Amino acid sequence: MTAATPFLDQAQGHRRGVTGLLGDLIHTPSLSSEEEAVVNLLTERMTTLGYDEVRVDGFGSVIGRIGSGPIVVVYDSHIDTVGVGSRSEWRTDPFEPVIDGDRESGVMHGRGASDDKGGMAAMVYGGALYKQMGPSDAVTLYVVGSVQEEDCDGLALEHLLLHTLPRPDLVVLGEATNLDVFRGNRGRIEVLIRTRGSSCHASAPERGSNPVYALAPLIADVERLNQRLGHDDFLGAGTVALTKIECETPSLNAVPSTAAIYLDRRLTAGEDPVSALDAIRELPAVRAAGAEVSLLTYERTSFTGMRLGQEKSFATWVLPEDHLGVQAGIRAGVTALDRRPATGHWVFSTNGVASMGKLGIPTIGFGPANEIHAHTAADQCPIEDLVQAIAWYAAFPAEYARTHRAGADR
Ligand SMILES: [Zn+2]
Repeated sequence: MTAATPFLDQAQGHRRGVTGLLGDLIHTPSLSSEEEAVVNLLTERMTTLGYDEVRVDGFGSVIGRIGSGPIVVVYDSHIDTVGVGSRSEWRTDPFEPVIDGDRESGVMHGRGASDDKGGMAAMVYGGALYKQMGPSDAVTLYVVGSVQEEDCDGLALEHLLLHTLPRPDLVVLGEATNLDVFRGNRGRIEVLIRTRGSSCHASAPERGSNPVYALAPLIADVERLNQRLGHDDFLGAGTVALTKIECETPSLNAVPSTAAIYLDRRLTAGEDPVSALDAIRELPAVRAAGAEVSLLTYERTSFTGMRLGQEKSFATWVLPEDHLGVQAGIRAGVTALDRRPATGHWVFSTNGVASMGKLGIPTIGFGPANEIHAHTAADQCPIEDLVQAIAWYAAFPAEYARTHRAGADR
């Protein structure tokens, strides 16, 4: 049983509110680029809770502000979700929130509960509790619900950090950390390898050249590549996975004209997108087949009508354990939860690939729920996690401001 702290005591007062908000968020489907209804819901809720200002940026992310001090902290959770996959895998309707166990302290199920609507709901109430308990004069806190993370991690947050908000001192991500403090994730690239042949009637295949056959040794090379990728003690190994295979063919009685495979290559510390792509280009079978190797690109119009895109290349990032942001996160755990959180990293990728990986802004993560449920039909978030996260989010800005000043004084 967790010992009470003033933050936990006060967070109890928001137990029903945060549970209701998470239920409403789950009940409002929000695939990437279809987040408008959720943005409206969050705008209304942050306004009702007394945020100093609530607005929506050009690409559609919603932003609530509390305070106007010189130290800028951004809390970010993404508000889009992946689809539901096969409905038959779900015990209940993925968009009808269901609580397993006690209504006040059970586990909420539904699409997005763990990724990342639980984090969003807790951040909204955490910001409100922070204001309620006397916000720090030194801090401006922005609580952000960002769009299109599932389809292109970092794109919306990068836009917001470059064009909408002042450059923050620290970003806190609300992705699931099981209430621990996370400080990195592997980067990744999405790669297309295409082989070309010549199409002909399938009754006389010798007249053409089949590009799918050229893929066979190439796939074997990719599989072997997985055994000699980088390793990092903190982030683990780099990996490569073949995720899709396709060919272009005039009919089922023709030799195809082109064939392609798609790779998801995860980059650990010490690996970078450029050399990872080069290593694929250098695979013997890729060279032998004269295959084209390219990075995929993402481009999408948001519900606001703004169109943004980028190459699907996402930088690895790690914030050192002794960084003042990590240390403030640990201390906020002690202050708010009477518990010293462990530190760790996500296995999946997050908006940190933009905030820290690309822009160099120190980034940490703290969120309710467990990453293992993300994107599954068992998507879930314990209500108790929401309450504890609210307490942590309310305590963190002052802890960070204290460390920040001490750091500046040294
Ligand atoms: Zn997520």
